[in-house]
Amino acid sequence: MQIMDNFNFAGQRAFVRVDFNVPLDEKFNITDDTRIRAAIPTLKKIIADGGSVIIGSHLGRPKGVDAKFSLQHILPRVSELLGVKVEFVNDCLGQEAADKSAKLQSGHALLLENLRFYAAEEGKPRGLKEDASDEEKAAAKKAEKANQKEMAKQLASYATVYVNDAFGTAHRAHASTAIIADYFDTDRKLFGYLMQKEIDAVEKVLKDTARPFTAIMGGSKVSSKIDIIENLLTKVDNLIIAGGMTYTFTKALGGKIGNSICEEDKLDLALSLIQRAKERRVNLVLAEDTKIADAFSNDANTRFVPVGEIPAGWEGLDIGPDTEKKFADVIEKSKTILWNGPTGVFEFDNFAGGSKAVGMAIVKATENGAFSLVGGGDSVACVNKFGIADKMSYVSTGGGALLEFIEGKELPGIKAIRGY
Ligand code: AMP
Repeated sequence: MQIMDNFNFAGQRAFVRVDFNVPLDEKFNITDDTRIRAAIPTLKKIIADGGSVIIGSHLGRPKGVDAKFSLQHILPRVSELLGVKVEFVNDCLGQEAADKSAKLQSGHALLLENLRFYAAEEGKPRGLKEDASDEEKAAAKKAEKANQKEMAKQLASYATVYVNDAFGTAHRAHASTAIIADYFDTDRKLFGYLMQKEIDAVEKVLKDTARPFTAIMGGSKVSSKIDIIENLLTKVDNLIIAGGMTYTFTKALGGKIGNSICEEDKLDLALSLIQRAKERRVNLVLAEDTKIADAFSNDANTRFVPVGEIPAGWEGLDIGPDTEKKFADVIEKSKTILWNGPTGVFEFDNFAGGSKAVGMAIVKATENGAFSLVGGGDSVACVNKFGIADKMSYVSTGGGALLEFIEGKELPGIKAIRGY
């Protein structure tokens, strides 16, 4: 398989799938350009080699052509960060896109309009009537899959080499993220730097694991984390359960949880996870005390109580000091750490202390040589809030893609390039 550093792009036209799905304000100003910055090293390397780039991305969830989601909004920023004037074509599939790509000079860049203006990108039919019959639905699906192949083929025709640097969409089998790779020989498709870094970080944690390996799973619900927890139970030495999930486990074990968040239909599941951890000799670490509140508010009255002794009318919104210490002891002795999800309602400053304590314990472990991977939505917001993102070994840019990767699923965007 080709890798970026060894590939000479001189004279090549590279189709680079990036994830420029950045947040915009109501005036279409970019409010956070992290995703654009993340793909710049790959684009710069191609240009520095003397190649040219055709940049493809989605933005938002348009249901068709929609000026609100035009990539034209981000064009000036891309030019600025890349340091070259980037051309734009307002239809990713028209003749103009083909002509402009063919004429691209070495060192030049072309940004295509939003790939998701076409339903074929996702390969899912749009605008199906609600009362469509099963046959109609199946026919529409088949037609859109055929369109998807055509779209992938056309995008591929613009370029001599395919680079995927869009980890955020690696879990989607879309025209530009996976199907397109079929139109390039094995030595003409490769991961961009960002994609490679993400893959390396997850594989370092899951496959090339220095022990002890501790995963900290927080967040609100067990139901959204079951697949990850199940996969992690086959890999970790310590599994810390935190956040809203705590109370489902506590109730399942017979504790009193007051008004705390709880999934009543997952009590049996919680017990079976406890059992499975025992069988696999995984040290399952649960909270011992909790910071409770008499309302779901930053200004609520608070108290610390043992986790199974929450009075009626009160709810657990963060871990308590004993638990902070218990978690930190485990984390600080670890050599591999995965953190997904806060220990409490970290958006409220009064309930962010537990997440901060966990973050600081990870910083300490990382300084002592551990490899720490943080990822999945709110955990990234957490490390940013506490100003410790640069003290982690790796902070993933992927939300859903990262979670599916950790669940042990095959990601189409990765498989399309390396075959697994
Ligand atoms: P998730 O998206 O599943 O990772 O969940 C993150 C969300 O869980 C954050 O918005 C937290 O505020 C929320 N959360 C964490 N702990 C609690 C808790 N004890 N009660 C309610 N929500 C919580």
